[in-house]
Amino acid sequence: MRFTRSRTLLAAAGLTLAGALSACGNAGGSDSESTDVNVEENAADSFEDGTRMKELAQDGKITIGVKYDQPGIGFKGAADDAPTGLDPEMGRILAASLGIDDQDITWKETISDNREPFLQKGEVDLVIASYSITDERRQIVGQAGPYYVTGQQLLVKKGSDIKGPDDVKGKSVCSVTGSTSLEQIEAKGAKARGFDTYSECRDQLLDGSVDAATTDGAILLGYAAEDPDNLEVVGPTFSEERYGIGYSKDSPEMCQWIVDTLKKAEDDGTWDKAFEATLGKSGVDTPTPPEMDACPSS
Ligand code: GLU
Repeated sequence: MRFTRSRTLLAAAGLTLAGALSACGNAGGSDSESTDVNVEENAADSFEDGTRMKELAQDGKITIGVKYDQPGIGFKGAADDAPTGLDPEMGRILAASLGIDDQDITWKETISDNREPFLQKGEVDLVIASYSITDERRQIVGQAGPYYVTGQQLLVKKGSDIKGPDDVKGKSVCSVTGSTSLEQIEAKGAKARGFDTYSECRDQLLDGSVDAATTDGAILLGYAAEDPDNLEVVGPTFSEERYGIGYSKDSPEMCQWIVDTLKKAEDDGTWDKAFEATLGKSGVDTPTPPEMDACPSS
C-alpha cells in the first residue's frame, strides 16, 4: 500500500551545493529551499496494462542514470546518499508520479559515452544526465523534453587570453568523449582532447595541461562557482543544448508520460523550485521552462 506523502526533496541538494558555494564566498539563495513532491497513491491504477510505467509503478522501484560530478546538474560526493542537482530532481518528480519514493530510486552514475548503451541494455530505466536532444541520438534511444536549455561555452583559468570561441583555433581544449561539446569544439578548429568526465577535464585545465575546457554553460558555471579564484566561464554560448530525458525505444509510451509529468511540474511551480534549489544556487536566473517537443507517434 502506498500513501500520499509530501516530501522535502531538496534540503540535501540545497545544503550541498550552497555549502560548496558558500565555502568559496559565492552562495546564492537560501539553504532551506526545497521541493515538495507528492508521491502518487495507487499510481499503478492510472497506467494501462502493458506499459512500462505500469510495470515500474507495480514494482515500486526505478533505476535512473545521472551524472555524479557536475555540481548543480548531477552531483554525488563520496559521503552522499543520493545525487543532487536539477537532473536528479527531474528524476524524483517522475518517480513520484509512479508512486515511487526517494528510497526506492536506484541512482546509477552515467558518463556521456555510456548513456545510449545504458538505455539499450536496460541498465537504467531513464537517463537524466545533461543529455542534449539530437537527431542522431533519437535514432537510437527515446529523448523526451526539453526540460532545460543551455549552450556550449568555455571555461578558462582566470586571466587567460581565450575570451571566447573565436580564440580557440589551434588551442588545446578538453571536453568529454560521446558529448556534443567535443564534436562542436573540433569544428571550431581547436585541438580537442576527450576525457571520460568533465571533472577530469576541469583538472586538466587547472594543472595547465590544456588551455580551456568546454561543454554546456550550465555545467561549467558549477565548476567556476566552486573555484572562483582560479576559474571563469568566458564568451557567448555557441550552441543550443536542449536537455532531454532518455528512455528506451522499446517503451515509446514513456515519452508522453514524461512530457505530461514534467508539464504538470512546470505548471504547478515544482520545476521552478527544483531549479532554484539546484542550478539557481550558482547565480543563474530561473528561466521560463522551454516548450517541450511533441512525442513521436508510435
Ligand atoms: N549536453 C551535452 C551532451 O549531451 C554535453 C554535456 C554532456 O556531455 O553531458 O553531449
